[in-house]
Amino acid sequence: MFIENPTEPATVKLELENIQIRDQLLQCEYMYIAGNLCFISKFQTIREPVQCMNCYRFNHVTLVCKSEQYCISCGDTKDCTSTVFKCVSCGQNHRADNKDCIKYQELIEKLKQQQHNE
Ligand SMILES: [Zn+2]
Ligand SMILES: [Zn+2]
Ligand SMILES: [Zn+2]
Repeated sequence: MFIENPTEPATVKLELENIQIRDQLLQCEYMYIAGNLCFISKFQTIREPVQCMNCYRFNHVTLVCKSEQYCISCGDTKDCTSTVFKCVSCGQNHRADNKDCIKYQELIEKLKQQQHNE
């Protein structure tokens, strides 16, 4: 869960000892921390697949990428002259960062599954 201060939007994450305390706090809706009014809401972890901004493949970050640079639009390694979209991950007719990409969707499903098992 996290706490929002309405005057200066900033969040504080609270790790609580047990679910009962958390639920009690969530019912309060707001509380004062060090004299500041803070609104309480449940913390949602939104996990997204990691995508490299160099080669646009998934599951690694740009910093560790050892691949050649690929084009986000046409998936080619050369200077882009193409106007046709081709995803480097699935080969379909969309940009590599398209959230409808079947590969991206697969990874989202996997992450959801992992979260479910935790
Ligand atoms: Zn990469
Ligand atoms: Zn291109
Ligand atoms: Zn794709």
